[in-house]
Amino acid sequence: MKPVLVVATRNEGKVRELRRILGCDLEIHLRSLADYPAIPEAAEDAETFEGNAQIKALAAARALREAACADDSGLTVPALGGAPGVHSARYAGEEASDEDNNALLLRRLSNLDPKERVGYFVCAASLAIPESTARDRWGIEPPQDWDTTEDCIRMWTTRAEVPGVLLDAPRGSKGFGYDPLFYHEATGQTFAEMSVEQKNRVSHRGYAFAAIGAQLRHLLINRPLD
Ligand code: IMP
Repeated sequence: MKPVLVVATRNEGKVRELRRILGCDLEIHLRSLADYPAIPEAAEDAETFEGNAQIKALAAARALREAACADDSGLTVPALGGAPGVHSARYAGEEASDEDNNALLLRRLSNLDPKERVGYFVCAASLAIPESTARDRWGIEPPQDWDTTEDCIRMWTTRAEVPGVLLDAPRGSKGFGYDPLFYHEATGQTFAEMSVEQKNRVSHRGYAFAAIGAQLRHLLINRPLD
């Protein structure tokens, strides 16, 4: 039976992205929290992206005794003290829409010097696997160089950042969140002007998930890390 990896989200878009990045060379059965309706999504109450990714991956690994992975992402603007940061999804309030968040960001940016209108997208991604699951279901030794929790769950976390210029008006209609305001200089496009494939090639989440894929390949087929 193929080992299971649970993506600790109910966001099918993220699951699809991860499935594409992991490709078909891995003998792995990818599931998400949508397959486990009784498991609640963990509260993202850490002050760092890494902390939130770990909370989500660990909660799923503990509840299901399966390997799990999770990510946490957002936009950081140094000249705004790091905001919206880990609060990116609810920058303009608990029920805020993408439009509300973008409108608030534009207001805050309007007070800044043009040179300060820069920021970066961050994505932290975490893999968690109970030691017993590694041995019994994955048929591997628990990775010795990963962190260990008190209840013997091994955990590995990565972080990717992508810098961009923050425009004073939205451009493009694809993507989500802050994409229309985020101008990626290397490609000369906002993230909202890119196809999903283009964005995955240069995005924070694309890089973080690619690193997760490399770890999984290393674990399962002992390939060297890319
Ligand atoms: P989460 O990782 O699903 O918690 O996303 C947090 C929030 O960060 C999203 O709701 C967006 O507001 C923002 N965000 C994260 N990644 C992106 C991205 O690739 N484009 C635009 N906004 C993003």
